[in-house]
Amino acid sequence: MVDACAAVARDPRSITLIAVTKTYPASDAATLVGLGLLDLGESRDQEAVAKAAELASLLRRSVEVPVPRWHFVGRLQSRKARSVARYAHSVHSVDRTELIEGLADAVGRLGRSPLEVFIQVSLDGDPNRGGAVIGGLGALADAVSQRQELRLRGVMAVAPLGGDPDEAFSRLAEASALVCSQHPDAVAISAGMSADLEQAVKHGSTHLRVGSALLGRRREVFG
Ligand SMILES: *Cc1c(COP(=O)(O)O)cnc(C)c1O
Repeated sequence: MVDACAAVARDPRSITLIAVTKTYPASDAATLVGLGLLDLGESRDQEAVAKAAELASLLRRSVEVPVPRWHFVGRLQSRKARSVARYAHSVHSVDRTELIEGLADAVGRLGRSPLEVFIQVSLDGDPNRGGAVIGGLGALADAVSQRQELRLRGVMAVAPLGGDPDEAFSRLAEASALVCSQHPDAVAISAGMSADLEQAVKHGSTHLRVGSALLGRRREVFG
């Protein structure tokens, strides 16, 4: 990441590195937290619920208790909104109104601090991989900003399979500019995974979601 920043003259401090711990045990998450990596990501609610609880109990044993932030980065069914709102600091995969309302209602009922939200952009037009089409971003950004339970941070995308990440992230940067023109605080761009983090940094990523490059190869790959 430091090399990727140096290559395009960006300050690494302007980027949040999220360690995606899916498929790895809570003990690995505890190790990362011990190293000062406090932003952790998960892509499946069931796994995240269990890991967040286990990590909390592991950390309770340490003298100084750092508080990690869980970022939910995977596809999210609306019926899971309530569960995710219990442990997540932010959700990167918000792509429809129903989910916005579900998350906001859940945050309201829990009486917790506002949930940070990224609107996921579809860069390949494949609805099965999640994300909203560029033309729908304005309405979704407005819907998020109308709910005081949510805080609109910006946009997120996964580069299309087999496509050119350079081209994909340049389109994401345009989508980000579009959202920012109406919501000047929503400057964040969640982009870049192990295989394409350099291209993401080049195109302004503020939040990298890195799993295997930090933790080693996964045995199974989830979407
Ligand atoms: C798994 C996952 C990542 C991390 O992927 P790596 O290739 O292991 O870095 C990032 N973002 C999302 C949405 C993921 O599902």
